Amino acid sequence: MLAGKAAIVTGSTSGIGLGVAQALASAGADVMLNGIGADNAAELSSGIKREFGVSVIYSGADMSRPRDIAQMFDEAVAHFGKVDILVNNAGIQHVEAIETFPTEKWDQIIAINLSAAFHAIRAAVPGMKARKWGRIINVASAHALVASPFKSAYVAAKHGIAGLTKTVALETAEFGITANAICPGYVLTPLVEKQIPETARARMLTEEQVIRDVLLKAQPTRRFVGTEEIGALAVFLATDAARSITGTALPVEGGWTAQ
Ligand code: NAD
Repeated sequence: MLAGKAAIVTGSTSGIGLGVAQALASAGADVMLNGIGADNAAELSSGIKREFGVSVIYSGADMSRPRDIAQMFDEAVAHFGKVDILVNNAGIQHVEAIETFPTEKWDQIIAINLSAAFHAIRAAVPGMKARKWGRIINVASAHALVASPFKSAYVAAKHGIAGLTKTVALETAEFGITANAICPGYVLTPLVEKQIPETARARMLTEEQVIRDVLLKAQPTRRFVGTEEIGALAVFLATDAARSITGTALPVEGGWTAQ
């Protein structure tokens, strides 16, 4: 389905990004993986390559650094000759009340969860426009649509991603390019596992109460979303069947934002 297409998936050494990279590879796309501090990168790359018979490379670019992002993009073009599909997925979280929220955490979250997507899209669009085909998929969050307390930087960055997605969609609509945001609810990845004790502290609850009464309470389905569900939607958005879907924020959150 995506044979001959080349994709970059940022933050793909873990969780949702890894699920998206595997799904794109299973549909035939060549993939550049990215992540930081990942000692399993070589293993992941060779595993995906072996399983799906596609070309897989890895960049250790730090998404908080615009120069790293430009270099990552150049490496992908040097290897694949082009980038057809850009998935901006790398992200971090910090859960704390606004009055004590560390300034450096705010800056880091805005840089990785929002500005990195701007820098990567800026690099990707000229080639996509020239080839008259491109797919930009931003992994946002249900927190691009609604807020929760104690997540000021994350909610601000994710709402920003929704606006960036719409703007890029409008600028690229006549060039065979689509830009969409996927808005997952809670997916049990290391990012969520880490915020369970943080949320327990902030809300003075036990970790079990956080899972039942905070996280899954938000999701009417009362279950975590699977990484493969996000991967399947990313693959669909990358196909020609989805060429008229652009500028959207697509919830995959078990009904969370319907409430
Ligand atoms: P994760 O912690 O499992 O994976 C995060 C990935 O980002 C890793 O590969 C990590 O190496 C990479 N990363 C972190 N900082 C980086 C940096 N500075 N430079 C390059 N790579 C970096 O997290 P996840 O839950 O899979 O989250 C992925 C995305 O999905 C994030 O944007 C997150 O906000 C979003 N999201 C997650 C959930 C959820 O419930 N897990 C829900 C909605 C949205």
